[in-house]
Amino acid sequence: MNDSQPRLSFEFFPPKTPEGKEKLIKVRDQLNEFAPDFFSVTYGAGGSTRDNTKGLITQFKNDGIAVAPHLSFGGDDETTIKSLLEEYQAAGVDRIVALRGDMPSGVGGAYQLVYANQLVAFIREHFGNQFHLEVAAYPEIHPQAKSYSDDIRYLKGKFDAGADSAITQYFFNPDAYFYFVDECQKIGITQPIYPGIMPILNYKNLTRFSDTCGAEIPRWLRKALENFGDDEASLRAFGVELVTDLCDTLLENGAPGLHFYTMNQTEPTAEIVRNLGLVSE
Ligand code: FAD
Repeated sequence: MNDSQPRLSFEFFPPKTPEGKEKLIKVRDQLNEFAPDFFSVTYGAGGSTRDNTKGLITQFKNDGIAVAPHLSFGGDDETTIKSLLEEYQAAGVDRIVALRGDMPSGVGGAYQLVYANQLVAFIREHFGNQFHLEVAAYPEIHPQAKSYSDDIRYLKGKFDAGADSAITQYFFNPDAYFYFVDECQKIGITQPIYPGIMPILNYKNLTRFSDTCGAEIPRWLRKALENFGDDEASLRAFGVELVTDLCDTLLENGAPGLHFYTMNQTEPTAEIVRNLGLVSE
């Protein structure tokens, strides 16, 4: 992808089985046709996917593909996180998505979550500028945030600690993103904020997931999706058109790129990227 093109990245979660991994590598190769700037691989609550995430990252690097591991402290101590980062560095990883993560279910009150700004500061302290650091941002506010202004102040804290750019939670209302970017700029955030894009695959999963992570599905959209009932093919076709329009609006109005939550599937992400004309030369 050349420099004038918007940045493009694709997110995966680590599969639990060897068959799942094999399938994911095929998806990766199909999406790699679009010459993304990087892929990213999530990290389970409390480090639960540590080995699976690391295994996938190593394989991507061995295959010569740019990839960024997501990382959070979870229940780990500094030594464990530092040696994981050293392994990533040795494998040639140069980008990390630094997060606080969430409390794994079934864990009691003794568990301490480390805010993402602390992880960013920790990485900068021990690894200098070896990694490009991405952090998370929430145009519709993080569900635990006390207020909108607190949430963007904490985002600024992540940049002040050394983050280079942010990727947002997904949203379906482009105004939420543009308002958010404006508010961030007003408090002095100058780094790029890349919109996270969720392709629409399945109504039930989307609503369940959105309720947990605080991403809003506008009422009109819920109603429209509900009306498709079991007709997944029509729902997906509608979703492709809707998300293509969303991406078009974002890019036309200055979003610096797109980060796709692929849900480990080639489609509908590939169709949306093709519709947008983001095909590498
Ligand atoms: P933080 O930035 O630390 O913020 C968490 C909350 O605390 C917010 O409400 C914030 O307002 C508040 N806060 C922040 N700093 C402070 C402070 N210093 N003092 C007091 N309050 C503060 N989850 C996973 O488990 N694995 C993943 O791989 C993963 N990948 C993600 C990728 C992206 C692009 C996004 C947007 C989210 C991802 N998540 C992932 C979800 C994320 O871990 C959760 O949303 C989590 O609850 C917050 O993580 P954070 O890094 O945004 O936390």
